[in-house]
Amino acid sequence: MGFLDKLKLGRLREGLSETRENVFGKVCLLLAGRAKVDDALLEEVEEILIAGDVGVETAAQIIEKINSRAKQDGYQTTEGLVNLLKDEVQRAFVNGIPSELQDPSALSFVQKPHVIMIVGVNGVGKTTTTAKLAFLYGQKGKKVLLAAADTFRAAANEQLKIWAERAGVNLLQQARGTDPGAVAHDALRSAIAHQADVMIVDTAGRLHTKVNLMEELKKIRRVLRKQLPDAPQEILLVLDATTGQNAVEQAKQFTEAIGVTGLVLTKLDGTAKGGIVVAISKALKIPVKFIGVGEGIEDLQPFDREAFVDALFAR
Ligand code: GDP
Ligand code: MG
Repeated sequence: MGFLDKLKLGRLREGLSETRENVFGKVCLLLAGRAKVDDALLEEVEEILIAGDVGVETAAQIIEKINSRAKQDGYQTTEGLVNLLKDEVQRAFVNGIPSELQDPSALSFVQKPHVIMIVGVNGVGKTTTTAKLAFLYGQKGKKVLLAAADTFRAAANEQLKIWAERAGVNLLQQARGTDPGAVAHDALRSAIAHQADVMIVDTAGRLHTKVNLMEELKKIRRVLRKQLPDAPQEILLVLDATTGQNAVEQAKQFTEAIGVTGLVLTKLDGTAKGGIVVAISKALKIPVKFIGVGEGIEDLQPFDREAFVDALFAR
């Protein structure tokens, strides 16, 4: 593992410190004081998992598996339970979705431009994620174009401009109130003309008109498809991890309405409930592709299941 990788894992650990201390750290503490695994102990572990937003069902399944494995292996002490637990949390991801879909390096750019639509409700971190993604791809030497399709919030536009400058990427913006479909259309035309590798479309989370948000998003998608049949190759739903189980509900709605190819879980640095990542990937069978662990432009990481679980349990 290179220095940079280590640094990143360090950042991830830092970002997840809340969850670690409050959920998984608690489990470790609980286990450290016990000599033997019994039902009462497992029940306590289950409660901690639920409190950490892993989800009632998932927590029960994890405990159930630990129980049966413990019986099978004649496992009696708490010593190896942390490892078992780590194992089962990992499995919860695997069982949820095919593991190859979870590989964040599977960001293929078969067709240029690779169009990514960023969707989600207000305040979850769409604009921030758009900028962070632009920065990430820019760092990888990709030519990036941002499309500001949240045309209702002047502040959002201004914010994106500052971010784009910071990320060193191009940005297509139009006057406030412009039809978002038109912005998407013009941006894609420009991206094709300038042979951009990636185009990222930031969208609104709530509308100031009577137009239904889902209808607007469908329209943007339609406009993109007209010009480039495979576009958008990616629809990333941004979810705020601090909203807990609410995020699961949002994910269901967006998935039904426009289809979602991947999730971005933001604000994992600000929650003690990182277990939501497990709950969501399991419930929706949609891969978590990126996680946000801070407000800075570098605070977005391709989601790596193993690194994530390691960081959760790191002491
Ligand atoms: P949008 O309405 O979905 O576009 O949300 P914004 O991108 O404007 O972000 C809303 C707020 O969330 C801002 O204050 C961001 O700085 C903050 N934010 C976004 N992502 C993260 C994250 O990963 N961690 C933290 N701590 N804050 C974040
Ligand atoms: Mg925004």
